[in-house]
Amino acid sequence: MAALEEYRRKRRFDRTSEPSGEKTSQPGTLFVVQKHAARRLHYDFRLQADRALKSWAVPKGPSLNPADKRMAVQTEDHPMSYADFEGIIPPGNYGAGTVMVWDRGRFRVEGQRGAKEQWDHGEIKFRLMGEKLSGSFVLVRMKRDQKQPEWLMIKHQDDAVDPAWNIDDHDGSVLTGRTLDEIAAEVPPKREPIPL
Ligand code: MN
Repeated sequence: MAALEEYRRKRRFDRTSEPSGEKTSQPGTLFVVQKHAARRLHYDFRLQADRALKSWAVPKGPSLNPADKRMAVQTEDHPMSYADFEGIIPPGNYGAGTVMVWDRGRFRVEGQRGAKEQWDHGEIKFRLMGEKLSGSFVLVRMKRDQKQPEWLMIKHQDDAVDPAWNIDDHDGSVLTGRTLDEIAAEVPPKREPIPL
C-alpha cells in the first residue's frame, strides 16, 4: 500500500506499539479522532478512504460551533488498524507521547459530487455519526501546493450544532473511558468500547 510508505518510514515498529498496518481490512466509512499529547497537544482527525485513513492534525480539535473554523493540517495517511490505537508512543519515537481514541464512528460523504471529485476540488462535505461529533461538516483546502496542505474544518448549520461548544467538556476515551493521564499511567480500561 503505497499510501502508507511515509507512515512506516517515520516509525520503528520494534520500538513503538503503534500498528504497522500489515493487516488489510474491508472498505467502509470509518472516522476516528485521536487526542494526542505529543510535543504539543492536538487532535488527529481521520477519515477512511479506500483502505487507509486520510489524516489531519487539528490543533484545537473539531468543533460543533459553526463559528469555529478549525485549522487542519493534512498529515500522512495512516493504516486502518490505527483507528483502535490508544496508548503510549515511547520517547524518542515519531509523535512520542500519549494517544486517546477521543471519538469514532461512521461517516458518509454528502453533496452532489463523489468523494474523489470533492477531494480533487479541495472541498469535502460529510456527515459524522460518532459519540461526540455528529452532523454535517466541510473540510476546505486552503493551500494545495505544500507537503502538508492546510485545510479548514467547519461545522454546517444543523440539529447537531452546539454554539457553546468547549472541547474540554467532552474529554475521555470512547474506547476505554480513560483520560490522557490514565492512559499514560496504564490504568486499566473503565468501560467496554461500543461496537461500531
Ligand atoms: Mn498526532
